[in-house]
Amino acid sequence: MSDLATTTAILADLIAHPTVSSEANTEVIAHMATRLEDAGARVEVMLDATGQKANLFASIGPEEPGGIMLSGHSDVVPVEDQPWTGDPFAMWQEGDRLYGRGSCDMKGFLAACIASAPLFNARKLTRPVHFAFTHDEEIGCLGAQSLADVLKDRVARPALAIVGEPTSMRIVEGHKGCCEYRVTFTGVEGHGSRPEMGVNAAEFAARYVTRLLELRETLRHRTPPDSRFEPPWTTINIGRLSGGHAPNVIPGLAEVEWEMRPVQKTDADFVKRLINGYAEDILLPEMQRVATDASIVTEVLGEVAGLQPADRNAALAIVAELTGANGADLVAFGTEAGLYQDIGMDVVVCGPGSIEQAHKPDEYLETGQLTACLDMLSGLADRLTAHG
Ligand SMILES: [Zn+2]
Repeated sequence: MSDLATTTAILADLIAHPTVSSEANTEVIAHMATRLEDAGARVEVMLDATGQKANLFASIGPEEPGGIMLSGHSDVVPVEDQPWTGDPFAMWQEGDRLYGRGSCDMKGFLAACIASAPLFNARKLTRPVHFAFTHDEEIGCLGAQSLADVLKDRVARPALAIVGEPTSMRIVEGHKGCCEYRVTFTGVEGHGSRPEMGVNAAEFAARYVTRLLELRETLRHRTPPDSRFEPPWTTINIGRLSGGHAPNVIPGLAEVEWEMRPVQKTDADFVKRLINGYAEDILLPEMQRVATDASIVTEVLGEVAGLQPADRNAALAIVAELTGANGADLVAFGTEAGLYQDIGMDVVVCGPGSIEQAHKPDEYLETGQLTACLDMLSGLADRLTAHG
């Protein structure tokens, strides 16, 4: 079989595992582990605390620090309420398009990596290649966070990473972070005529939101001078606000959901410190003066680190050489890349398929994209063999 035929068959197997983020992914991880082991890789499967989710980390080549890590997530977004023309978990081909949930985001990249493993193994690599396949990227990069925690304490950890999210094989060197929170204000209900007898959760939520909007203004003054993002500063969005029943009732419960898209990690730390301080030191004591069990609870819905463009990025240099790309983009979507950058790796995002097709009904991957990815990986095998 040609490389492409092998890769396409592997992709069909991966798509047949419906690894929606709410479901277990251990079967598909075991499947990929077997294939990589058969190809000669040293494979580790790391289960999470529930035993339902796993990361896979595998290596080929010398057991030493450095080398390059090929990184992707095994989970996919749901298909409910989407008008698919075929079974999303039974890959089908029309012309040069491979259809199925996860085809471009991002099982196509995983399939290309697995199909290339025997090639890496057949070469006398002078530096290792690593495979990092994670769980729960679509719901906050949970798997990559735990993998990054494991890798950061290892001596033999990869120096570079390619995150194979769909970029149409273009190089992406930066994206903003994305931090999402739900804040629940629990006060005390009462009659609207006696505000002092209750704790008005909606009013405290409103003050919290007002403080966030002030911080949003401050963030514009913190714009890094060389920022290439659009807009160039860190943004805040109030996405949902709810609470109360009627004009004459003091609301006992209110909720705020908001997000922040930091252009630099220091902005995220700055906002969290100030807004949490405001909630804990100003709002909460006022609420508890009336009712000791009043509370403000912040849930982290997801904290995806941004990928900051770096002046020197060895991963970018290699991928540019391999793909012939001249230049690198910034994108609006988040990936696992920032988490690996945070532990000191040089990282780029580059993978087959278009983000236009991701998360949509009739998601597809063009075979030409898969071929381009296989070419990049085979060039990488040369590169890890040739230079010391
Ligand atoms: Zn993805």
